[in-house]
Amino acid sequence: MIPARASSLVLALLLVSVPGCTAPAPTVDRFPALGTLVEVTLHDVDAATATAALRALRTALSDMDENWSAWGDGALAQFNAGSPADPALAELMADAETMATASGRLFEPRIGALVELWGFHDGERRPGPPPDADAIQAWLDGALPVRVDLGAYAKGAALTRAAEVLREHGISNALVNAGGDIVALGDAGNRAWHVGIRHPRTAGVLAGITLADGEAVLTSGDYERTFEWADARYHHILDPRTGRPAPATASITVIARDAAHADAAATALFVAGEDWPEVAAAMGVDTVLRVAADGRIELSAAMAARVDLLQGATAARIVNVTAATR
Ligand code: AMP
Ligand code: MG
Repeated sequence: MIPARASSLVLALLLVSVPGCTAPAPTVDRFPALGTLVEVTLHDVDAATATAALRALRTALSDMDENWSAWGDGALAQFNAGSPADPALAELMADAETMATASGRLFEPRIGALVELWGFHDGERRPGPPPDADAIQAWLDGALPVRVDLGAYAKGAALTRAAEVLREHGISNALVNAGGDIVALGDAGNRAWHVGIRHPRTAGVLAGITLADGEAVLTSGDYERTFEWADARYHHILDPRTGRPAPATASITVIARDAAHADAAATALFVAGEDWPEVAAAMGVDTVLRVAADGRIELSAAMAARVDLLQGATAARIVNVTAATR
């Protein structure tokens, strides 16, 4: 679904889980999926249960990789080629569309043709210039065929499904970390799950946060999928109003119980730039950490109440986001 990115692999290593000192060793599995290295940590589980759960999880994630990608020949790619959507895909696209409307279409699932124009659909983008202004204008004018790309939403939806698969196999204490995008179940033995949020400009951790059962952490960053041309750097989160990479944000992290909504919101808030608090309220998320492109750190009040900022970082602005009912 999402092309492999080396930066995501680095981020996967930043996870700081803190098992209790007397808890038995967790079961840990790592495998490529969702365009990154997925790390699954299970607590309080016998070997047979863990084996069955992990096998089911690998299969489910591999199915989602195939069927939720806009490119290739899975269900979404076939829909883009004119086939009808099966009920599961239709439900996924309907939910994404609800989030798109709530975001004022800053999260825009119909963005696939523009993503392709920029070459970001290809994990290994060949060196070359950005698309020319006429081509971008053609997309802005609606002159290109619509292609649905769920790349900004499907990783979250996959984490939601991953949590369901684990629960269906009787697992209540687990962490699924897909390159820094995370869902937590229960706790880490006898302590809560504690995870790190990557600093967008250094190799270190910007903040640490404790997660409650069922919570997900999704980050959109300008350090993923980039290319350089003529001394300028371009990244993959595009502003549907300009057709170009959104310039104002370095990273946005959203914590929510619905991982798919957190994913869609992280992308929309990234695009929103300084207007992120209004868009967060409209999308029903209230726990947000933003690093602006100039390095300023902004937090929602709900995030400020929970997060530990590291590396001497201080929040320049704490914003009250009152999540509106969608
Ligand atoms: P994320 O990392 O969740 O922010 O998702 C970024 C990916 O979603 C990109 O690689 C594109 O495939 C796609 N995308 C880029 N810009 C947008 C946007 N404004 N709305 C929806 N999807 C986008
Ligand atoms: Mg997203």
